Amino acid sequence: MSYLDNKIPPKREDRLQAVIAHSDSICGLAKKGKSKSCLIDDGERGFTQGSICLLLPALAMLNTLPDNVVLLHSALGCGSCTHSQNANVRIGSNARQGKAKDGIWLSTSLDESDVINGGETKLERAIIEADRRYRPATITIVAGCVPGIIGDDIDGVAQNLQSQVSARLLPVHCEGFKTKIWATAYDAVYHTIGRNLLVERGVSDPKPEDELKVLQEQERLNRTVNLMNVSSMGRIDEQELERLLTGIDLDVNVFPVFSHPDSFIKATRAALSISTCPTHDDYFLGYLQERFNVPAIIRHMPIGISNTSLWLRDVAAVFGAEEQVERLIAAEEAELHGALEEFRPTFSGKTVFVSAGEFRALATAKLLQEIGFEVVGIRSFHHDEFANSEYEKLAADAKSDYVVDIANVQPFEEANLLKRLKPDLFLGHANGNMTAAKLGIPTHVIYNTGLAYIGYRGVYEIARRLYRQLKNPAYNRNLAENIRLPYSEEWYKTEPFAYINTRGRAVNE
Ligand code: SF4
Repeated sequence: MSYLDNKIPPKREDRLQAVIAHSDSICGLAKKGKSKSCLIDDGERGFTQGSICLLLPALAMLNTLPDNVVLLHSALGCGSCTHSQNANVRIGSNARQGKAKDGIWLSTSLDESDVINGGETKLERAIIEADRRYRPATITIVAGCVPGIIGDDIDGVAQNLQSQVSARLLPVHCEGFKTKIWATAYDAVYHTIGRNLLVERGVSDPKPEDELKVLQEQERLNRTVNLMNVSSMGRIDEQELERLLTGIDLDVNVFPVFSHPDSFIKATRAALSISTCPTHDDYFLGYLQERFNVPAIIRHMPIGISNTSLWLRDVAAVFGAEEQVERLIAAEEAELHGALEEFRPTFSGKTVFVSAGEFRALATAKLLQEIGFEVVGIRSFHHDEFANSEYEKLAADAKSDYVVDIANVQPFEEANLLKRLKPDLFLGHANGNMTAAKLGIPTHVIYNTGLAYIGYRGVYEIARRLYRQLKNPAYNRNLAENIRLPYSEEWYKTEPFAYINTRGRAVNE
């Protein structure tokens, strides 16, 4: 029985025993991964500053789907991240479809009366209104915490109303209180795609009597790969991977962001699915493999020189293109190493701290090692078994052991660590760089859909941007001189992980 036979996907704490509260070192985690006791014990923080709601990554995916209306069934304010994400939707649709389009999102804005009386009637009215007003191909009905608490049955509502509307109704379960692992959101979106969109419709196949076209189409599909992007790559990064994959004669089907819901069926016919980030894709690729016999590669993230080459070799091996890929890799690496020379003297001896979702943080740390930085700390938003090999790669090249903080945000731990480590550079997400920035540390954004990060081109572009950043750190220096963080001096003297596995007081309080 597949997880997708159930209405609701499992949370990652249960499916992968994922961890959010743990302190360790790069060598410690590499050793644990090697022994195959991959899953470290999850801790609990006696004090936490926040978490990431599932709606953030889920809406980043859903808002990109053309011809889709996102209907949030939750309290007013849930999903307000859409306001900041819409720029990505506009830029992304312009880059892919030649037209800047806004995501369409509505909310049932559940209030106190709905909590007492139930919100299903309101949801029904909203679905019918969305269908009539926008005539979309799909309406994704996204449940937040409130329907999860009061027991609204969004699947039942969708089923009962389906015959009365022209849009396909796709329930998505993002009840934020159910999990602390934000990456469960990817499973929630893939869950509804798998259950509702992988059905034959909207695909025009060659007619059986046109044998030549049928054969050509089969030949094309035999060399078509699904390239998974859940919104962690901008078009510029997709183009880099398309460039490399077409360099070994493959056809690329980028999926699922910015893909029309009618085209999702194409993913079931590809010869291979390739993950670009194992944190994102294992749930769905496992299903494509099990249900449609589409094999998948779920390891390595093509960020950094060695990881990009490993990623390409894995793909080429499936198609017997080993010699072809070695020629491509040799040419790309030679050109890249030459281009990086001018930056190396500036980077040599500089220390860096990296913070992001686990796989991205680790792959980026590897890239930074490769271009001459010394990594002195990593903060990963969670940990699961897929990253074990990455800790080993980093430990193998580390000058000395360094700290790894598994933390679903928790900027107070990060501030404490940064005060001690005093790195020359910090890489983190746009909304997570402020702690380092206010401490006067030069920062760079680890993900921005308008910038290049992936493949060989990404290595060069990151190096070029960091070079410029380090040449002029005045902005962060000025920030530190004029702004202070809210923590007391006592906190900076306390051990940074003092609140892990405690009941609300630091261990030495
Ligand atoms: S955690 Fe719950 S209440 Fe908060 S934004 Fe997410 S769905 Fe809404």
